[in-house]
Amino acid sequence: MDDNRSIWDVGATGLAGSADSPLISYRQVGRIFTDGQKDFIACAGVNLDIMPGEFVCIIGPSGCGKSTLLNIAAGLLPPSIGSVHYGGKEVSGINHKVGYCTQKDMLLPWRTTRRNVELALELQGVPAAERRRRGQAALDKMHLSDKGNRYPSQLSGGMMKRAALAQVLVYEPETLLMDEPFGALDAQLRMSLQRDLVRVCEDERKTVIFVTHDLEEAILLGDRVVVFGANPGRIIHIEPVALERPRDLMSLRSEPEFVRIWETLWNLLAPQIGEQA
Ligand code: ADP
Ligand code: MG
Repeated sequence: MDDNRSIWDVGATGLAGSADSPLISYRQVGRIFTDGQKDFIACAGVNLDIMPGEFVCIIGPSGCGKSTLLNIAAGLLPPSIGSVHYGGKEVSGINHKVGYCTQKDMLLPWRTTRRNVELALELQGVPAAERRRRGQAALDKMHLSDKGNRYPSQLSGGMMKRAALAQVLVYEPETLLMDEPFGALDAQLRMSLQRDLVRVCEDERKTVIFVTHDLEEAILLGDRVVVFGANPGRIIHIEPVALERPRDLMSLRSEPEFVRIWETLWNLLAPQIGEQA
């Protein structure tokens, strides 16, 4: 290897990061927004290492910079200070290793579900046959195998969310950034989507950053739960979740360790939310 090349230079197809080095590394990250008159610090001093294959949940009051931090890891927004490294390389520009489920679904109403799922591949110029194959695989993973010809208006709320996930899975990202993806769903639908997400992530060993305002969801899904505080947005606590997998919310609720973690998180979060109310 050329001596000037970093050991992290593993090429486009290599799995960046190894078992004991982080895949995503936030270093002293801060972001300032300005309205033209005064500056506003959205988040500051964020240090966080995420290991390959890890499922990290983020909770915190509204406006503490959670979406901003996902945008920075996706390369959609530069930090004002500090840096984010992905696979050992500083993120500057769009990070093609991540799939981003934004808070709002992006299904185009005039395209069928299949053509919505294939859209990203179409934009990349992927040939039609491969597009069809990968599109169908993504639909299958989300239990939408026979819904490809429906338009978004013909899908239920749960199916729309599944289609939005398939849209991200289709380009086979190494990492998923998920911004409160199941917030608007009823409890039953949420449970079934959580189950499918966990299955896909375990099967494909995906790394996940998952923002949620639901404490139970954070404990159910996460290997760790990162708690943010406000003014400015910053990490105030990181709680490891050592509960055995597979996890089932119904039985977890009566487990003392689950209750302990829930109370720890709530005691940290409640004063933050109280300040906002
Ligand atoms: P969260 O996701 O935790 O609710 P955000 O990351 O969306 O918080 O936003 C953090 C703060 O930064 C909020 O006060 C928000 O209004 C502000 N903000 C976010 N994006 C922008 C932007 N593009 N321009 C100006 N202010 C922004
Ligand atoms: Mg947000």
